[in-house]
Amino acid sequence: MTTLLVIITAVLMSNGLLLAYLHWAFHAPRFAQHRFRAQPVTMRIDERDRLRNALLNGIIPVSIFYAYVILGFSRVIVEGPVSWLTILWQVALVLTVYDLGYYWMHRYAHTQKWMMKIHAVHHKARYPSARDSLWIHHYENVAGVSLLLVTLTLLGPIHVYSFALMFWIYTASNILIHSGVAFPRYPLKLFNGLAEQHYGHHMVNMNRNFATITKFWDRVFGTDL
Ligand SMILES: [Zn+2]
Repeated sequence: MTTLLVIITAVLMSNGLLLAYLHWAFHAPRFAQHRFRAQPVTMRIDERDRLRNALLNGIIPVSIFYAYVILGFSRVIVEGPVSWLTILWQVALVLTVYDLGYYWMHRYAHTQKWMMKIHAVHHKARYPSARDSLWIHHYENVAGVSLLLVTLTLLGPIHVYSFALMFWIYTASNILIHSGVAFPRYPLKLFNGLAEQHYGHHMVNMNRNFATITKFWDRVFGTDL
């Protein structure tokens, strides 16, 4: 249990740093020519509202994850010897199934009235930067984290190293797709395609590009731009 809590804390802290770096890059003159939009406009929201929302959306997933571990559901996360191949397979399986669930949840959020109201909060960010990844309704936040944990519980057991990598990709991808910048160098350049795809969802056509971790499900269901 202690290992898991350390992993959850480390992943959230490292991705906090990633978010801070990407937010800085979005406004930095050296990356100005690489921004998807020339002017670094995001949205006019009272800074206190933004801070309150970000704090709440930080506390919610941490509380849900800690409750998941403390209530004993984390028995689906196991320790012991494991190969890298097993880790990669488990991470790919959980994230692919999660992304399928998220794809449909997000797609319904653009067609079902009651869900549209909730999801509209996030779409106030027409030209998002990394910190807008936190600007979502807290119901949507609870739904996303719960979807990941239900997927994990149904597909488990998985190794604790697989959980660490899976959880890092899950949190980092949500930040990276909102970067608003096509980075010229690796490793961030690796995520330019996904960031561009999600920018298209915010700026160009909200009825396309519903998945967040890969383009796979949008291609399968014919909704990629
Ligand atoms: Zn959307």
